[in-house]
Amino acid sequence: MTATSLVGAVLAVMLGTYHWRRRASNALSGPLALAMFCGAWWAVMQAVVVWGAWEPARVAAAYAILPGLAVLVACTVVFVLVLAGLERRVTRRLLILLAIHPVAILLAIAADPWLRLVFSAIGEDAAGRFVMEFGPVFWIHSTYSYGLTLMSAALLVRALLRSVRGHRAVLAIALAALLLPSFGNTLMLIAAERGQVDLGPLLFLITAGLWSWVAVYRARLGVVPVSTRDVLAALSDGVVVVDAAGVVIDANPRGHELLSRLRPRGAAVSAVLGRPWEQLVDDRYLRLLADGDQHLLVLDDRTVLDLRLERMRSAEGRSRGAVVVARDVTELERLREELAELAVRDSLTGLFNRRYLGPSLEAGVAAADATATPLSVVMLDVDRFKQVNDTHGHAVGDAVLEQLARILAAGIRDGDVVARSGGEEFILVLPGATKKQAAVRAEELRARCSTHEFATEAGPLHVTVSLGVAEHRPGVTADGLLIDADRSLYRAKAGGRDRVAV
Ligand code: GH3
Ligand code: MG
Ligand code: MG
Repeated sequence: MTATSLVGAVLAVMLGTYHWRRRASNALSGPLALAMFCGAWWAVMQAVVVWGAWEPARVAAAYAILPGLAVLVACTVVFVLVLAGLERRVTRRLLILLAIHPVAILLAIAADPWLRLVFSAIGEDAAGRFVMEFGPVFWIHSTYSYGLTLMSAALLVRALLRSVRGHRAVLAIALAALLLPSFGNTLMLIAAERGQVDLGPLLFLITAGLWSWVAVYRARLGVVPVSTRDVLAALSDGVVVVDAAGVVIDANPRGHELLSRLRPRGAAVSAVLGRPWEQLVDDRYLRLLADGDQHLLVLDDRTVLDLRLERMRSAEGRSRGAVVVARDVTELERLREELAELAVRDSLTGLFNRRYLGPSLEAGVAAADATATPLSVVMLDVDRFKQVNDTHGHAVGDAVLEQLARILAAGIRDGDVVARSGGEEFILVLPGATKKQAAVRAEELRARCSTHEFATEAGPLHVTVSLGVAEHRPGVTADGLLIDADRSLYRAKAGGRDRVAV
């Protein structure tokens, strides 16, 4: 037993030294190192008390145990506070409070030859057995030590309940280790009159070993351990995992939500995992897994989902299924459509702009060529518009353009395109119309404009427009067609304005 205690003490001093050197980088190491030195002290003094040959040495050792234990308990409190994540509670004030106990014990020991408050009797009896009778200070010391130990245990339990899964085992081990020497000490107190059995120091050295592991482990961990499942659950994307046979084998909460939305209307499915994809989703979505790796799904409620499939393969290249990741892009899609619409619209009149006109006229020309149907273009320019601006201001000019755009938009038919091609210049594309039919419609527009009263802040205004008509001829490009219309428009202007030229 002596040998075991002494070997344990040496080990504790070595481990304590190891931790003492690391106290700057690991907040657990400082209190742990001190506790280990105290534990070693405890083991050695206990060995002297039990197996010592010289009575004064045994008495001195019995006294020497107590301040060491007081410091050890204080170190335990600090160690537990740090481990429980309450490091900020370890203040100078707390350390001073914790120091009262060992100092008080030292004072009581110094006064014990006269007051006999620690041990009411201590020494070898007639048979050479070492006996101790405990005084009130000893009991206060013991009760206080147990109290602090219990408080520390409570702190660890609380931290344990609040901690994440990966930390829980560490805290549980630290807790068990904390209670181990108290358990041994209790045995000793029960067997006090025998005075020979004290598992306390030995058990504490086991505690120190476990705490040492905790300190090193926690330092290495540094971050909150989070399982893959926690990460998946936190994702706002739906994740569904299917195996090679198409059986759903895992899904995060959003993934479950996704599957419930892909389900045939009214079909309630309780268990999703372990069932084939085909059994879970509506007919429309059956082939999702097989067709391509990306889909934009528009659900019945107009939710737009961006669905991506990540195929999983074994090292040999065999399919191991797929991870389906779904992201709600409804808002994104709405914005994209809005932007796409804005990009082809003129901001003043809301008509299509040049960017839209070019490709749409080209497509019209190609279609006319392919189907051998006529296609005409009307180019419209406001007469003496500069004067409107110069006389009444730009805002009035704008109002005229807006109202003119409305007249044009009201006059078009299905398949026609009306665009603002420039400042006060507009183009109508009339698929299926010959130049004769286009000229008729151009004349209608001219008449409507010339009789229209444009309401402006400068009062009602009258403006006229000139229009040039051109019909597409096979082999001529869209640009060529616009040049033809422009020539007609020039002739309408040259002919006196407020007229149509073909
Ligand atoms: P005409 O076509 O009959 O030969 O005479 P005009 O005065 O209309 O001649 P021109 O086409 O050269 O003048 C176009 C004017 O349109 C010049 C410019 O100040 C005006 N304009 C162009 N864009 C806008 C616009 O967005 N708002 C307003 N208010 N005026 C514009
Ligand atoms: Mg003009
Ligand atoms: Mg012009």
